[in-house]
Amino acid sequence: MPDRNLDLFERAKTLIPGGVNSPVRAFRAVGGTPRFVQRAQGAYFWDANGQRHIDYIGSWGPMILGHGHPAVLEAVQKAVLDGFSFGAPTEREVELAQAIVELVPSLEMVRLVSSGTEASMSAIRLARGATGRRKIIKFEGCYHGHADALLVKAGSGLATFGNPTSAGVPPEVVQHTLVLEYNNLEQLEAAFAEHGADIACLMIEPIAGNMNFVRASVPFMTRCRELCTRHGALLVFDEVMTGFRVALGGAQSVYAKQIPGFEPDMTVMGKVIGGGMPLAAFGGKRAVMEQLAPLGSVYQAGTLSGNPVATACGLATLAEIRKPGFFDALSARTRQLVDGLKATADSAGVPFSVDAEGGMFGFFLMPELPQNYQTVMKTDGTKFNALFHGLLDRGVYIAPALYEAGFVSAAHSAADVEETIAAAAESLRALA
Ligand code: PMP
Repeated sequence: MPDRNLDLFERAKTLIPGGVNSPVRAFRAVGGTPRFVQRAQGAYFWDANGQRHIDYIGSWGPMILGHGHPAVLEAVQKAVLDGFSFGAPTEREVELAQAIVELVPSLEMVRLVSSGTEASMSAIRLARGATGRRKIIKFEGCYHGHADALLVKAGSGLATFGNPTSAGVPPEVVQHTLVLEYNNLEQLEAAFAEHGADIACLMIEPIAGNMNFVRASVPFMTRCRELCTRHGALLVFDEVMTGFRVALGGAQSVYAKQIPGFEPDMTVMGKVIGGGMPLAAFGGKRAVMEQLAPLGSVYQAGTLSGNPVATACGLATLAEIRKPGFFDALSARTRQLVDGLKATADSAGVPFSVDAEGGMFGFFLMPELPQNYQTVMKTDGTKFNALFHGLLDRGVYIAPALYEAGFVSAAHSAADVEETIAAAAESLRALA
């Protein structure tokens, strides 16, 4: 039988670098042929060979309602008829900004952009402009998009700044980016002790989804907040992945339950707020946000920012996830999945640990949950790849790399999860 996925991949490789428009899609880590998606509905997509897959990526997070939710489709179809893009303000932008500000108490104002990369990059410029400082802190294993200053890994020691992780980024561009180990209190203290007066912001994925699934511990987050406040640095939460995904109020609402009065100073959002359309945002307190152009001296702009079709999609998505009980049901489904996987791995005798919050989860082929990137990367890659392909062959699509999180949607049924666990049981037995 002809393999349409393979044919398309071969053709794509002659036209698009690596055959893909974003690297992880190429299956470089796991090997094999990427699935070219033909269409999707609910919890499934169908590839170019017509094979159905249960989708635990959901466009890397946005599709929290599953694919093709009727209310979202209707909103988008209506919006399209009114026009694709105007480059002038619209009522829907105001409505979406209002919905976001209502759902996330730390936000007083937001600006809409088109990608998470743009949102993080702009948030950092604003933090630097607002504080008049140069340096930023980021953590190894956290991804904030591909702005130059954020493509950086830890240097040889704390006294040195990071090294670029991409060619094309001159060392001078990352010289003000300090890269620390996630959940490492000692490094955090030392960084503020040495550079406190020059730190504009600390940017963090509160629950990191770009090193699989790793939570910042409550003591660590508490100290991040204290040190930022004491030194006048802004605490910036990157909730592109976790926002409106781990809980209606994002990861910050999860920490606020454990740390009285907890709030970040700024938040970066994306994915779910666009419901699958190119839409992201950054926001914070009025005094900081009003330093953006046209009011203030920090420049930021976008031809397609606040796009009318994307805002319609985002608004319809948020309207669904705000309904009472939505997150309880989503969390319960995610729990069913991770508990089932864990039980299956235990009975197959495969070392396994899991964690989840709301509709986001991670699992590791190791007995204990890791606390930082270095430990995540000690996962047995060969075993992960075998598990990935075992699942893929059985119609279950998880991230094609062990350092990515997974996503459950409201469209995943109990039967979908049972089918997934059965596929995992067969795949894990083959591993043991
Ligand atoms: N921040 C986080 C936490 C992300 O997960 C991502 C993308 N996965 C980004 C920023 C960048 O967003 P985008 O791909 O929309 O540029």
